[in-house]
Amino acid sequence: MSGRAQRAVGLLPDAGLDALLVTDLVNVRYLTGYTGSNGLALLGESGCTFVTDFRYVEQAAQEVDAAFDRRRGERDLLEAVEEPLPSGPVRLGFEEAHVSVRTYRRLRELLPERIELVGVVDVIERLRAVKKAAEVDSMRGAAALADDALRWLLERGLVGRTERELALDLEQRMRSQGAEDPSFPAIVAAGAHGALPHASPRDVEIPSGELVVIDWGARVDGYNSDCTRTVAAGAVDEEAASVYGVVLEAQLAGVGAVRPGAGGREVDSAARDLIEAAGYGSEFGHGLGHGVGLEVHENPRLSQRSDDVLAVGNAVTVEPGIYLPDRFGVRIEDLVVVTDDGCEILSSIGKELTVVE
Ligand code: ZN
Ligand code: ZN
Repeated sequence: MSGRAQRAVGLLPDAGLDALLVTDLVNVRYLTGYTGSNGLALLGESGCTFVTDFRYVEQAAQEVDAAFDRRRGERDLLEAVEEPLPSGPVRLGFEEAHVSVRTYRRLRELLPERIELVGVVDVIERLRAVKKAAEVDSMRGAAALADDALRWLLERGLVGRTERELALDLEQRMRSQGAEDPSFPAIVAAGAHGALPHASPRDVEIPSGELVVIDWGARVDGYNSDCTRTVAAGAVDEEAASVYGVVLEAQLAGVGAVRPGAGGREVDSAARDLIEAAGYGSEFGHGLGHGVGLEVHENPRLSQRSDDVLAVGNAVTVEPGIYLPDRFGVRIEDLVVVTDDGCEILSSIGKELTVVE
């Protein structure tokens, strides 16, 4: 059995399960290597099975880990779930955060009564949160590629160009330099638009004298990067520079608090306390950061509502922001990996306020 499948099977007894049905395609990819759009995995002591339909049989033969018994099902893969399961009573876990009510009903209808369906959350996600060296390598590569693309973009200037042009150029540059895709649609938001944490780029030219929030990332080998820089398009006023300074100080404190054993709430507080002390507590309305990997947002979480505790191999963002409605926003985000004695910062772009014409 592959390392990942074996580790997942090792979690089943504690979860009170005899077998686990994995239908979330990101989790299926993590366990098996399969990147197609219809596939499921069944994990159990007695063995692991992968099922897809005829369209993906060849792809699965190339991609799916040899630890899995590969089977061809109908388009409705759920019809193939019962057969590989052991006889007698079976407690079969399913991923309740990823299974629709309709799919659940269909499963219940297809499976005999001896198979009990048990909803579970975060079984595979917990494994995914701890990155192995090869995964960190992919993320390091994704971050470096994304950083090079931003440097390229900034060299060509910001003032007089539209947010949309800049976002498209940045995404195109990442693709042409080897990214599978951008991790998510790039955010380029100038002035008051930057006060929206999830702004969509507009067809609006960037004037001189505004802060521009740029949040972008690249995907390499399925792994994402995520970074934000706030850049001055021409010289900005004193207040913008001073808010920038507060966010930077908070960001450095947040990064400084990342280490194995630190709680998600504790790391969030390290940054949030400084923003509150500067009088901008209510203008920092989101958590400090999130895990990144095969998905842009995954476990663990850094926020006041998090019970997560950091472990070596976690990859998280540290991204405080201050958002002043109708005026401007500042966010600074690094992607870091937890190491034995703190963290490695994968983002390489400097964080001092940079003026670009
Ligand atoms: Zn981001
Ligand atoms: Zn982020």
